[in-house]
Amino acid sequence: MDFEQIRHLEQLPEEELAERILKIRKEQGKNVCLLAHLYQRKKITELADFVGDSYGLSKSAAQFEGGKYIVFAGVRFMAESARILARPEQEVLHPDPEAGCPMADMASLPQVLQAWDFLKIGKKTTPITYMNSTADIKAFCGENEGTICTSSNALKTFEWAFKKSDRVFFLPDEHLGRNTALKFGISPEDIAIWDPEKENGVDPESYGDAKVVLWRGYCPVHMKFTVRDIDHVRKFYPKAKIIVHPECTSDVVERADYVGSTDFIRTYVAKETKPGDQIFIGTEVNLIQNLSAQYPDRLISKLHRSLCLTMYQINLGRILYTLENLDTFERVEIPASVQYHAKVALERMLSLQG
Ligand code: SF4
Repeated sequence: MDFEQIRHLEQLPEEELAERILKIRKEQGKNVCLLAHLYQRKKITELADFVGDSYGLSKSAAQFEGGKYIVFAGVRFMAESARILARPEQEVLHPDPEAGCPMADMASLPQVLQAWDFLKIGKKTTPITYMNSTADIKAFCGENEGTICTSSNALKTFEWAFKKSDRVFFLPDEHLGRNTALKFGISPEDIAIWDPEKENGVDPESYGDAKVVLWRGYCPVHMKFTVRDIDHVRKFYPKAKIIVHPECTSDVVERADYVGSTDFIRTYVAKETKPGDQIFIGTEVNLIQNLSAQYPDRLISKLHRSLCLTMYQINLGRILYTLENLDTFERVEIPASVQYHAKVALERMLSLQG
């Protein structure tokens, strides 16, 4: 990778970059499929073939006619998921291979295997990993009769897991895990934490009876929202509706008016709000800004500052560099056995959706 050239491109005005990207897109036609996650900046989403959540995007790319090159504007685990679901002849390119999701990177395979050795004894345990995890962890779940969930179908995966086992081992997001467990009816006393930073995950005593063991991982962006932010909005905007993502802590989720995935948030604003409404949202700021630009007749605002820095690492300069070097740009590659087991877990998730 020519970093000097990337730095040069990153300095160019957005209009020029967008024009050059469009020109290549025109020349390449259906050969290239550009995907943009909902947390990407407006200029990027405007140029994309598909905008959506990570799972929806990967599915769209695999079904895209042509699409030899899939360029994924999002973080690394998303590009990996696209690789897992892509057709064999497709190539997946991630404009900044260093842009990982801090939460996904909080669970490494050796750490998870250490926990698993301990947790699989005694109770029949099903591992469930959130989509926001590395390909290794997805494969671990596939190999151990577990599955993957998104923030929209987490509850369904709990129902499935408890029909065939006594305990769920949920990773890597403690908060999505806890919010789902509580919604499923598990009492707080039946939930234990596995902290990978501590020897034997903190307190081995508590795992014996726990129905749900949560990996101590979190999204630094969604952790920023607090009950104080909610109280503040309630005080100064008493008519406003507050909607948050289930990666937020359970006290924030409890006090919000609505809780849901990025797609739920987008649909809520499109279908359930009208001109003059006030909506405060607890998720990544670019989704909020894009919605606010789309519906200028409503007040759509963030609950707190919430920029995802690694999402922000993807920019127009990087995308242009990727497109200008389609033949030589580093491919996202996943070892065959990891790919196989991760796909098993993803297909299991799909079969649960009926
Ligand atoms: S918003 Fe949170 S979960 Fe999403 S990519 Fe950023 S750090 Fe990861």
